[in-house]
Amino acid sequence: MDKILEIKNLVTGYQGKDGFVNAVDGVSFDIERGETVCVVGESGSGKSVTSMSIMRLVEFENGKILSGEIKFNGEELTTKNNEEMRDIRGSKISMIFQEPLTALNPVFTIGKQITEAILFHHKIGKKEAWRRAEELVRLVGISDPKSRLKQYPHELSGGMRQRVMIAIALASEPELLIADEPTTALDVTIEAQILELLRGLRRDRNMSIMLITHDIGVAAEMANRIIIMYAGKIMEIANTEDLFDQPLHPYSQGLLESVPRMDGERGVPLNSIKGSIPRLNEVPKGCRFSPRCPFATDKCRNELPPLETRGNRQVACWRVDYLLENNLLHSQTRG
Ligand code: ATP
Ligand code: MG
Repeated sequence: MDKILEIKNLVTGYQGKDGFVNAVDGVSFDIERGETVCVVGESGSGKSVTSMSIMRLVEFENGKILSGEIKFNGEELTTKNNEEMRDIRGSKISMIFQEPLTALNPVFTIGKQITEAILFHHKIGKKEAWRRAEELVRLVGISDPKSRLKQYPHELSGGMRQRVMIAIALASEPELLIADEPTTALDVTIEAQILELLRGLRRDRNMSIMLITHDIGVAAEMANRIIIMYAGKIMEIANTEDLFDQPLHPYSQGLLESVPRMDGERGVPLNSIKGSIPRLNEVPKGCRFSPRCPFATDKCRNELPPLETRGNRQVACWRVDYLLENNLLHSQTRG
């Protein structure tokens, strides 16, 4: 097994308006080379903060990594200085964001922006950089690259702009691509195309992908393994098939049940989990999901369940044995 990323007990906090809170609170997981891992969870569960911690971007946003390890190819990232991180960011690890956050520079053509990214990482001439830019643009599925490269961001559709962002992220030939909700701003057809593009990149380049999504349906299509996050903690980690076959955490089960049916309206869950994610300054002292969990006991409310290994998966739930014995955990597909 060749691990590209190993995260141990990561704690990342923010100074917010309600005081200092741990947005990511003791998170541990790995990503293997060539693997696609999806991080799934409701809004506010700490998915973006996890990725921003890996990129060491939290410091630029009044955040701080308080403890833990982040090893990339065996190298510890949490102790790197700014300059060292700049070399890693956007070269060995690239990140694409949800479109509204990204902003291509409106005053430069996309050709200029892609070639700049290429020139930043490779010691080659301008002409060669343009040639490679054409190649990249074609790779991300944009036809007629020559004329596209001369266009400005506002001349492109949202889907095209996201493709350009992916081309820029790929300019450095990263080993790990972190994609934070890369398709939420796009319509379903374009989303499918972008996801297909990511699948192809993984296949052809043996790139590792960490894909963040609130949509477990997307995770089902994309992931080798799925990490379920809730209120700053990991609830469950499992191979995609295993998770869909048999969720081990009541929260995972709730997410699976909220997958919209194919004939349903997109984004309208059949059965959403009742209640809402706790504010970080008032998380329950036991299991963070306990206030919403139909199976919670006093122990769940008072003692934090550790993320424990069960075979080739991990789950943080005091009730898992009881729930399995009584056949109370099942996925929607099994009925
Ligand atoms: P979403 O699906 O909405 O993107 P998420 O899982 O990515 O949600 P995060 O953005 O990681 O959630 O946020 C986790 C928590 O950290 C939130 O409660 C948020 O308020 C807090 N947080 C994130 N960024 C900051 C910041 N810059 N300052 C203060 N708090 C922050
Ligand atoms: Mg986010």
